[in-house]
Amino acid sequence: MKIIIATHNAHKVIEFKRILEPLGVEVVSQKDAGINVEVIENGKTFAENAKIKAEAVCKASNCVAIADDSGICIDAFNGAPGIYSARFLGEDTPYTEKNAIILDRLSDVSKEKRGARYVCAICCIFPNGDIISTEGVCEGTMGYAIKGSNGFGYDPIFMVGDKSMAEISDDEKDKISHRGIALRKFTAELKKYLQDNKQ
Ligand code: IMP
Repeated sequence: MKIIIATHNAHKVIEFKRILEPLGVEVVSQKDAGINVEVIENGKTFAENAKIKAEAVCKASNCVAIADDSGICIDAFNGAPGIYSARFLGEDTPYTEKNAIILDRLSDVSKEKRGARYVCAICCIFPNGDIISTEGVCEGTMGYAIKGSNGFGYDPIFMVGDKSMAEISDDEKDKISHRGIALRKFTAELKKYLQDNKQ
């Protein structure tokens, strides 16, 4: 089965392929499928934004399309940046800079108040209008320094235990990450859907 990933984020494409391809799903990026659609992410939740993205690519391609909307929610910032994670501190600002600014803003925040979570909503839409939606959450804490070079985005300042998400291997990240959790829930639902619909 072929699924187009509705994202321009190359890091997300890599993680989707890493998790879905071993399950026999052919994963094609929006770029490789030649689908160029402008999407306005004006949903109020991760789930709404994931649906907006998947719907646009499914309509434009007439193929099964999957999207994720994800982000980091920081307790000390009252849950921000949340759905605005990509745009937070400027869409084009390098993450080394964004992460340094965040750590600076957290400098007076005590260890107990440094809670944070990554959230990922997945939405898969079929050309007949059927929808599979799942969500994954990865609890962590905000670090005190930029650590590690794996992963992307906020990974170097998001701590899972005593390591940052950028210090652990790809395999370890997939096991615990918001995206890994949401995608495993999705594959379980997809298997059930395919059986029920005998595709
Ligand atoms: P989206 O493409 O609108 O869903 O924005 C997702 C944004 O959330 C990314 O650009 C990152 O800033 C952040 N994000 C989501 N997942 C991760 C992750 O696994 N690691 C680091 N940052 C992430």
